[in-house]
Amino acid sequence: MATEYSVPVEMCQPNLAFFMNIWRCFDHLLGPPTCQLCGARGLGPEICGGCYRDLPRARLACPVCAGPVPVAGVCPGCVLRPPAYDRARVPFIYGFPVNRLIHRLKYGGVRSHARLLGELVGRAMRRIETLPEAIVPVPLHPRRLRQRGFDQARDIAAFVAGATGLRLRAGLCVKRRYTPPLWPLTAGERRRLLEGTFECRGQPPSRVAVFDDILTTGATANALARILRAAGADEVELWAVARSPLISAGSIQPPANV
Ligand SMILES: [Zn+2]
Ligand SMILES: [Zn+2]
Repeated sequence: MATEYSVPVEMCQPNLAFFMNIWRCFDHLLGPPTCQLCGARGLGPEICGGCYRDLPRARLACPVCAGPVPVAGVCPGCVLRPPAYDRARVPFIYGFPVNRLIHRLKYGGVRSHARLLGELVGRAMRRIETLPEAIVPVPLHPRRLRQRGFDQARDIAAFVAGATGLRLRAGLCVKRRYTPPLWPLTAGERRRLLEGTFECRGQPPSRVAVFDDILTTGATANALARILRAAGADEVELWAVARSPLISAGSIQPPANV
């Protein structure tokens, strides 16, 4: 429920980490977890070996924006107009079954999927040699939070933070203005619409990762990266669970409902 977030999340960080660890221990006492995808006995974060191997991984991607590229290297868009973030790390594409997990979490309220998605992203990010210091989920506008009752990006980010040992800074940035879906807009329209939308309410650490569930246009993360830099961050990464397979110059479509 929305009231769950009535206390500034920043104040709750140590307690959140503590309770997440307790939750993990409790889970293990109950026995091996069951795969959330096929129902078989799981080995780790509620996913069996077969389903884990079959996840739709983003194999060939621009190292800056994580968009698809035909050959390894930085895409032309990032050469011409580099984003405000230094690099994007997105382990999966928005294909089955990752799309179904995100959709059920976001629109069906299946909150347990946040844990699985967060553990999967955390597992991928643990391979990074130098991790950022903190993770900053893209904030929801309070109106959207009231409609949905929870913030899926924040929920997944909490589990990513738990799996990587990063600090979760969920209250650091806020969304001041409600914005409509960005996908029908041109890049210029998106930039103008997002101008002044986010506000940073504290000092960010030197190296941060902005986190969102799906990377679609990148415009939102870009706007957030700009204000984090203005507030003092030296290095900003963009992390997401999955990138839309439909990202390509001038033809961004909304993720299909599955
Ligand atoms: Zn399975
Ligand atoms: Zn790129």
